[in-house]
Amino acid sequence: KAEQRATLLEINKLAAQYFYYQLRRESGKTAYGYLTGRGLSDETIRKFGLGYSDKYSDDLYKYLKSKGYSDELLRESGLFNVDERRGMYDKFWNRVIFPIMDVNNRVIGFGGRVMGDGKPKYLNSPETKIFDKSRNLYGLNVARTTRKNYLILCEGYMDVIAMHQAGFTNAVASLGTALTSGHASLVKRYTKEVLLLYDSDGAGIRAALRAIPILREAGVTSRVVSLKPWKDPDEFIKNEGAEAFEERLEHAMDSFMFRVHIAEQDFSMETPQGQNQFFERCAEMLLELSDELERNLYIEAIVKEYGRLGVGTEDIRKR
Ligand code: ATP
Ligand code: MN
Ligand code: MN
Ligand code: MN
Repeated sequence: KAEQRATLLEINKLAAQYFYYQLRRESGKTAYGYLTGRGLSDETIRKFGLGYSDKYSDDLYKYLKSKGYSDELLRESGLFNVDERRGMYDKFWNRVIFPIMDVNNRVIGFGGRVMGDGKPKYLNSPETKIFDKSRNLYGLNVARTTRKNYLILCEGYMDVIAMHQAGFTNAVASLGTALTSGHASLVKRYTKEVLLLYDSDGAGIRAALRAIPILREAGVTSRVVSLKPWKDPDEFIKNEGAEAFEERLEHAMDSFMFRVHIAEQDFSMETPQGQNQFFERCAEMLLELSDELERNLYIEAIVKEYGRLGVGTEDIRKR
């Protein structure tokens, strides 16, 4: 019901304000220090409405009860855990809080990070009547207003925030959930191109390989940026700065050629047999391209890249 959705948005807004205020109090000092220690300026903390949920287990619950909301609505908000013995209690304890906004700047959910090495590292709001994880992207409320003709897609809260602070305000994140066709059509509303900046680990590479066709089906082309030797955009920027980062963006790899390079790793390229199988795989991938000009251009690109192995345009075309 529309009425219930409006009330849930209201509850989230009050909760976001509550967390924001906690971060500014004496008891929020450690949390504030955690965020500045990770390089965030006060302006950035304000811009993203970051907050803190303190160590008490029912203060948010009491606060929202004092505003007159029913237990049933509060349960629907996803901000509380329900336990037979203890009743309802706050979901987030002693965590820094990232409010998640939809494209209309309404708070639809939260992420909370432990300060340090505790587990789980992040705790996120569950899906609710107002929070559909496969149809929202963190940071898109800001990114949609930038004039760049592409979006940067990354994994995490801190990546988006670090990039925005460094001036790359077109960055968004799918927050650990795999990219869905819902995300892709959301992206398509704003741009036709995405730069993928997933973490430089196996999981990040697999996530990029899965995202490419999903974006493609929605009519969004993608390129892939390597952040090596750093783990993610946040760490890259912290260690190498915004200029080096910009340079990496400029050298983004075409998504088809990215797939070719990943495929290469499946074969023993030092043997003729391995090379043969690899070019066979390339030929299969080329068949996915329905546009003949596009296919020819990629054949040329492959030959240019692997011509040292003695392979020619015709060798690949013939398969
Ligand atoms: P940080 O820099 O703060 O350590 P990160 O963003 O680099 O965090 P990753 O482990 O790379 O953390 O995870 C990427 C994203 O996946 C996180 O930002 C978060 O949205 C989500 N995520 C990570 N761990 C969890 C978890 N245990 N539960 C739910 N979501 C998680
Ligand atoms: Mn990761
Ligand atoms: Mn990180
Ligand atoms: Mn990461």
